[in-house]
Amino acid sequence: MSMSKQIIFIIALLITLGVFTYTVFRLVALFKLTKKGFPVRNLGKRFNEMMKVAIGQTKIFRRPVIGLLHALVFWGFIVILIGSIEMVLDGILGTERILKALGVVYDVIIGAGDVFAFIIAIAIVVFLARRLFLHVKRFGGIEMSHWNHVDANIALSLILVLMISLLGMNTFYIQHAAAAGHEVHGVFPVSQLLAPVFSSMQVDQLFLLHEINWWVHILLIFFFANYLPYSKHFHVFLSVPNVFLTRLEPLGKMDTKENVKKEVELMMDPNAAFEESDEQEEETTRFGVLDVEDVVWKNYFDSLACTQCGRCTSVCPANITGKKLSPRKIMMDVRDRMKEKGPKMLKKGKDYSDEKALIRNYISEEELWACTTCNACAQECPININQPQLILEMRRYLVMEEAAGPGDLNAIFSNIENNGAPWQYSQEDRMLWADDLYINEK
Ligand code: SF4
Ligand code: SF4
Repeated sequence: MSMSKQIIFIIALLITLGVFTYTVFRLVALFKLTKKGFPVRNLGKRFNEMMKVAIGQTKIFRRPVIGLLHALVFWGFIVILIGSIEMVLDGILGTERILKALGVVYDVIIGAGDVFAFIIAIAIVVFLARRLFLHVKRFGGIEMSHWNHVDANIALSLILVLMISLLGMNTFYIQHAAAAGHEVHGVFPVSQLLAPVFSSMQVDQLFLLHEINWWVHILLIFFFANYLPYSKHFHVFLSVPNVFLTRLEPLGKMDTKENVKKEVELMMDPNAAFEESDEQEEETTRFGVLDVEDVVWKNYFDSLACTQCGRCTSVCPANITGKKLSPRKIMMDVRDRMKEKGPKMLKKGKDYSDEKALIRNYISEEELWACTTCNACAQECPININQPQLILEMRRYLVMEEAAGPGDLNAIFSNIENNGAPWQYSQEDRMLWADDLYINEK
């Protein structure tokens, strides 16, 4: 590799790393605005879940055909990533195919990458055609703006160009080596079928075309790395860690608020005040979630990792029966709200208020109370996002901070408070129903 190519590559890499580092710092600052309260324990169990759901793509296979295509794209990306690392090493060190020293292993990796590039290209064409020409219901919805569709098509098109340039690079590499009498390193099951098409070209032309494809491929990777964090395709980075961070409690289990529990225990048993508790003290300034600074960091992580696939909304009984609720929208709203309020909070301080909130300005009470807490959405989500947990936290805010639950619920809550039961009868009258029974006959 020429020295000038090496220098240009290193400059491009430094710019990429610089922009990416800025994005990471910005994201870390936004995460700091959210709440703690999701300790990451049980690493072994998490690893198993990640291998099963993320690497094994088990949930995706519930829709066999499109699931298989998506899984092949995912697995292909992992293999191709190794080839991309080699390109970066070559670019920095000025070498040519530095990993060829791996011998047979190198042949297997490069061969698999060549085949996967072809499969991914086909899959992406199918995905694009499906988005552009077929009316897939779950791709629509009130939360899906024109930009969301454009964003998805841009990302898919970029992946397609990435695969075409990879195949182009391999094809011209083989043909150039054949024309110049060089040894070929690696195996190329697909590209070797394409190479003879260019057999009439001169060595210089083949070299130039190889270089063009090499640069297009690596610069696109650099661009992609910095575009993804601002796109729905951020899940390319975050879906695997998000599955690792799965909420391990059974679906539907509500989080216990330690400070509320303590209050109730004190009411029932004043001695509890002196008992030691190993539970973490919560940093509660507000019960439940009103705005984006009330969510725990994992909720924000979920919102960034959400692929906007709509699988959750497509199984939501509330949505299916025509209610306003869409679990996908809940996740997208968290992301959008943080995008709106987060930077201003960073600038003006944590107490900054724009007189708006996640509840009502983004998510209506009607949506929140439409949830049946069936957990079908969480069950279906391919990256284990738990939407009902967040919905319940927003309901918790409405009930505990504003007493703004639906009328029937408010009546039940006051009965529990006054009578110790959901009914409107005092405790002394509880056994009245048994007065006329024969067991009470003397
Ligand atoms: S838990 Fe709520 S949001 Fe999720 S599918 Fe059921 S009704 Fe829809
Ligand atoms: S929450 Fe999960 S299922 Fe719903 S759109 Fe996002 S990734 Fe898809």
